[in-house]
Amino acid sequence: MTDTPDATTRTGDTSTVDLTTPTWEYAPAPEARSLAHIPTTRLFIGGEFVDPVDGGTLKTVDPSTEEVLAEVATAGPADVDAAVRAARSGAETWAAMPGRERAKYLFRIARLLQEHARALAVLESIDNGKPIRETRDVDLPLVAAHFFYHAGWADKLEHAGYGPDPRPLGVAAQVIPWNFPLLMLAWKVAPALACGNTVVLKPAETTPLTALAFAELCREADLPPGVVNILPGAGDTGAALVAHGGIDKVAFTGSTEVGKAIQRQLAGSRTKLTLELGGKAANVVFDDAPIDQAVEGIVDGIFFNQGHVCCAGSRLLVQESIHDEVVERLTRRMATLRVGDPLDKNTDVGAINSAEQLERITALVAAGGDEGAEAWQPACDLPDRGYWFRPTVFTDVQPAMRIAREEIFGPVLSVLTFRTPDEAVAKANATPYGLSAGVWTEKGSRILWMADRLEAGVVWANTFNRFDPTSPFGGFKESGFGREGGRHGLAAYLDLAF
Ligand code: NAD
Repeated sequence: MTDTPDATTRTGDTSTVDLTTPTWEYAPAPEARSLAHIPTTRLFIGGEFVDPVDGGTLKTVDPSTEEVLAEVATAGPADVDAAVRAARSGAETWAAMPGRERAKYLFRIARLLQEHARALAVLESIDNGKPIRETRDVDLPLVAAHFFYHAGWADKLEHAGYGPDPRPLGVAAQVIPWNFPLLMLAWKVAPALACGNTVVLKPAETTPLTALAFAELCREADLPPGVVNILPGAGDTGAALVAHGGIDKVAFTGSTEVGKAIQRQLAGSRTKLTLELGGKAANVVFDDAPIDQAVEGIVDGIFFNQGHVCCAGSRLLVQESIHDEVVERLTRRMATLRVGDPLDKNTDVGAINSAEQLERITALVAAGGDEGAEAWQPACDLPDRGYWFRPTVFTDVQPAMRIAREEIFGPVLSVLTFRTPDEAVAKANATPYGLSAGVWTEKGSRILWMADRLEAGVVWANTFNRFDPTSPFGGFKESGFGREGGRHGLAAYLDLAF
């Protein structure tokens, strides 16, 4: 290792500031790409991999290199129909099976996920662009934990507080996004199966591979045919699935725009719906907060997973008296972030998932500059190929600016200030979203006071982005409705009369 100066640049006013922060140069520490096994790329229907009847194909690429990883079959309307029929016939045996037997399958899947965790982590990193440190240490452990946790519920549903004999809904259509492909699958599939439902799941078009690898694990676990069906495809496949008359429940995670369209589409139908949508979380730092700890939380809150996180702390609200100090420490910390090869174990910030998402981030950042905010980025070398965006922080942000209102879904932080707790609450809640929030203060009473007033499904105190299968997650307002995880999450998959 050598000690080298790290220059940083200010981009909003195009001046260059050399902070000459000494940082360590690490030797590359790549995880073995050869560990990734490309799964069968056909549709998974009724326990078999099959060719599409009226679907097509899509190419999935490694966003860090633009290399095509695989050509994957996509489902058309007839394939959707076949999958829903398979799920319906699977539901008869699955729902009738005693909970303790269903639990055995879920435990088996959880153990298989653990056994294959390293290969799945590599596969997720190359298909999504996220750093191996995250897929290995966050995504995969949580994926297995969700199956273990829900396996535990499968034979105890009558003690969950939903009546003496809670019944499943039937067939669940599940549509998920690309930011946590396998984790979002686990959030959806594990509770559905534990409650006795069968599922037809559509992964996102840019990240279908770990869902197909999961289908292979379902076969290895001898899961009865039709209990899990996986249909890769784009929005048209999702739309055909959601519109199918044979489903009992839609669980959607994705953008607010598509969520609203699905809600309109299902209005008046008997199909149950839960929506996990976008966010624009406030991370509120009071002047009595432990600042170094808060800076770590701010960095984790917005740069974890390249900021492709629905609950990302994308609006930093800092008490005015400590604004300069927080921004100074934050930029110094940002200058140490390593952007690059997702498979390098030293990488903090990986690739943006797609060219389309990179375009969206670039456009919103340009809008921030045009509206008068000042952008700062560390000067880091970006690879020549692939989709990359430097960690960015905006100061001089006004609440009306687009970067303060719209979900950027990238590594971009907007800093605003407040003077009083009331002003912090007012600014934090001045958004159509309501998914998450963070509060940094040494006073427990202030944490409780804030948590009472913040319109957010999750409020973290002196930490950020903590997830656990026992804890319900979900939003208010345009962030959606329904909860995933914990006892509350079971309600979304049970036929409750109350
Ligand atoms: P998206 O809405 O474009 O796509 C999400 C999924 O819906 C994809 O699988 C897509 O193919 C499918 N889809 C697209 N059009 C559809 C239609 N008309 N009918 C049915 N399905 C359709 O969102 P995205 O860009 O993939 O994901 C990013 C969004 O997801 C962000 O807004 C983010 O905040 C949100 N998100 C929310 C949570 C949460 O738990 N609240 C978690 C992760 C991501």
